[in-house]
Amino acid sequence: MTSTPVARGADELVERARTVHSARGPLPERVRGTRTVVVTCMDCRIMVEDVFALRLGEAYVIRNAGATVTDDVLRSLTVAQRLLGTSEILLIAHTDCGMSRVDDGALVERLREECGSAPAWSPAGFVDVREHVRAGLRRLASSPHLVPGSTACGFVYDVETGALEEVAP
Ligand code: ZN
Repeated sequence: MTSTPVARGADELVERARTVHSARGPLPERVRGTRTVVVTCMDCRIMVEDVFALRLGEAYVIRNAGATVTDDVLRSLTVAQRLLGTSEILLIAHTDCGMSRVDDGALVERLREECGSAPAWSPAGFVDVREHVRAGLRRLASSPHLVPGSTACGFVYDVETGALEEVAP
């Protein structure tokens, strides 16, 4: 595996954003007709715009630790479908996901010890990434608030090769 130089931190990113902003032209005020929402992991090796060669306005992107279909992911998807008119979901988990090494019970216990209380949320660690995708697809299919007839497809993204493998529900 090769390593890539990384940003030093938030200050450098903000400075870079100012440079980019001053160099580019105005952005469109509003985009219409976006059909697709990508739900994926926050892992910094997944450059969603590059994976799908996305152009401005082609997809909404929702990210969290593990590409887990949580209540808040369902909230955002419901807004994206009911208020913004999207109809397709791509659920993209990935190989070597950190959440596949998280022991929920151990993390909750650690938080209880270090912070004095357990979180209201589940860490949602998982063992098998394909089964994790299937569980996410089942949760999407059982949501009463998503638009009937909207579609959801699940994939595993290989962070070493860049390949996408579809996961049957
Ligand atoms: Zn991940």
